[in-house]
Amino acid sequence: MRISHVKLFVPGPIEVRPEVLQAMATPQIYHRTPEFRGLYADLQTKLRRFLYTESPVLLFASSSTGAMEAAVRNCVGKRVLHVVNGAFAKRWYEISQACGIPADALEIPWEKAARPAEIAARLKTGQYDAVAVVYNETSTGLMNPLPEIAAVVREFPDVLLLVDAVTAMGGVKIEFDKLGLDVCLAGVQKCFGLPPGLTVCALSPRAIQRAEAVKPKTYYFSFPVMLKSHEKNETPATPSVPHLFALNLQLDYFFEEGLDRRFARHAEMAAVVQAWAKKHFDVYPEEGYWSKTVTCIKNTRGISVDALNKALIAQYGLRISNGYGDLREKTFRIAHMGDLTLPDIRGVLGAIEEVLKL
Ligand SMILES: *Cc1c(COP(=O)(O)O)cnc(C)c1O
Repeated sequence: MRISHVKLFVPGPIEVRPEVLQAMATPQIYHRTPEFRGLYADLQTKLRRFLYTESPVLLFASSSTGAMEAAVRNCVGKRVLHVVNGAFAKRWYEISQACGIPADALEIPWEKAARPAEIAARLKTGQYDAVAVVYNETSTGLMNPLPEIAAVVREFPDVLLLVDAVTAMGGVKIEFDKLGLDVCLAGVQKCFGLPPGLTVCALSPRAIQRAEAVKPKTYYFSFPVMLKSHEKNETPATPSVPHLFALNLQLDYFFEEGLDRRFARHAEMAAVVQAWAKKHFDVYPEEGYWSKTVTCIKNTRGISVDALNKALIAQYGLRISNGYGDLREKTFRIAHMGDLTLPDIRGVLGAIEEVLKL
């Protein structure tokens, strides 16, 4: 099948720079060599700088869902509280259930952000030793107030904070150590601007200690097993070496752009899309918690989202995203993440205006 290129404005996978694709075609190296260990060590240095941390950042040859499973398998000894206000948070809760890990859901309406006081009230029961939160809910374009949540969780010394930062990391600043996070994971096909198939995951000393105590019932996703290899700048199983070449290049690109400038660019793209959405439609989640990386637009005009996307693809070679699950036709989503720029964003908004004759 011949696949012609359609520019992606969906919240993952996203546009990948040609230089990144090229890096993935680097001739293979064997992963038990000084050459590989050098690459791994370089990545650790860069990832620590990128996440403002002294902690190890593990590399998973899986998409984010694998690391979400690893987090609960390794870090829950007693019971985990899942803050559920979107599809990915719900998935994480279902992962715990599927793994037989004692778990409760703190259910919140999907258009509402998590309230730190509500989380604190649940933790005061003393039942939990971990909380799982999705920083940026890709399904609803909602950003939970992570710094405030982290501050309340840190008042409970035995409770670990597990964070799915899949559509946040690389688009907004995450100061892992300063915030006091314990696990923070992200697949690279979102804000990193790489093809899918690799996930990075930072672990605090508390998380490492917990994983050793828990003795997780997993081998492939065991933090202690991974950390043992990490000490030697290796991974226990064969890593996705092409991704590591690409990540190495991309992290340099981030530092060249400047991290603060990268985050400012995301904020700027978000502001433009959200002002446009307010003018022509509405924004789905409650105000004050709009995502910096993806906007979920309420279909207040009752347009056919499916027909809009078909027209954008056929006439402009651009793809946006329908709503997630039940929100499929009630909302649509425009991603403004990774290496997309303001001109790209103005382009897609202009195309939508032409198709809908706004
Ligand atoms: C995309 C996404 C995931 C799942 O990623 P997979 O690549 O499908 O494993 C999890 N959480 C969030 C917030 C996401 O956006």
